[in-house]
Amino acid sequence: MNRSAIAIHGGAGTILRTQMTPVLEKEYRGGLETALRIGWNILEKGGSSLDAVEAAVVSLEDFPLFNAGRGSVFTHDGEQEMDASIMDGRRLKAGCVAFVKNIKNPVHLARLVMERTEHVLLAGDGANQFAEQHHVETAPDEYFFTEHRWLQLQEAIAAGRVQLDHAGEDGDKRTGGEEESEPGSIASASSDNPKSKIQNPKSLGTVGAVACDQSGSLAAATSTGGMTNKKFGRVGDTAIIGAGTYADDTCAVSCTGHGEYFMLASTAHDVAARIKYKGLSLEDAARGAIERLTQINGEGGLIAVDSFGNVTLPFNSDGMYRGTIQQGGQIIVSIYR
Ligand code: ASP
Repeated sequence: MNRSAIAIHGGAGTILRTQMTPVLEKEYRGGLETALRIGWNILEKGGSSLDAVEAAVVSLEDFPLFNAGRGSVFTHDGEQEMDASIMDGRRLKAGCVAFVKNIKNPVHLARLVMERTEHVLLAGDGANQFAEQHHVETAPDEYFFTEHRWLQLQEAIAAGRVQLDHAGEDGDKRTGGEEESEPGSIASASSDNPKSKIQNPKSLGTVGAVACDQSGSLAAATSTGGMTNKKFGRVGDTAIIGAGTYADDTCAVSCTGHGEYFMLASTAHDVAARIKYKGLSLEDAARGAIERLTQINGEGGLIAVDSFGNVTLPFNSDGMYRGTIQQGGQIIVSIYR
């Protein structure tokens, strides 16, 4: 039986039809469809789920509207520090990179960490040195510069907020200024500050892919620029196995949303644990993990696939850029709730 399936996301958050133009929506859908096709072609030819998720995420990293690779958001200091991870469920192996700079495709570097080192996570200058040693493609600052990301940074600085890339018109109530902090969050809300309004609907989002190949092997990958105006070397869930990314023989999961909460709830691993220890279906396990996230005030979503090729894409935000191809080859792309 061919169980091939792939799912991708381009970030979850306040995605409102009222903020979207038909032209922009078409662009987003095109970016998602291209990535899905690239991953699906690999699966159809009998390729591995690992190759499929890496290739799909590379395509999303190259697409400037998403907050990963080329379209990464800016840190407080006007830099782009990217996090990425990849996990091979068949071998229970993973590779991650955190706050790397000028790497064209951080997910590719994460794969090299998995394949060429005895470690799981490399960070900062060390990860960049490792990239240099392995002749990983880099790109100059100009390649990563996008006007709308720069404007977002100015807005976030003016509002004194560390800003989730998915904040909508009212801002994100779970991010904000530096005075009072919610438990486990890096800052508190100031959503009534008029300057905190995000006018630009292009402000989405972290990217990820999960896949099941013809043999039933699973893999997941996630890549992000993190949060606008982040500082102090902040690293989110995307670089953390079990939080933003996870794959074993039960399922493969990639998350998007306010990373601190995904770390606190170990959301990606939570899905696998619910299947393994509670005997739940993929759908029920993923729904349960999102309910848990909601209980602790976390916002976002996830995509997951199991070894039978079932796919689920739950989220608790207004929308999530997402798409799937399963047996039959039909492309399904959705944005809103
Ligand atoms: N989870 C990412 C982070 O917190 C952000 C996102 O998904 O947009 O870094």
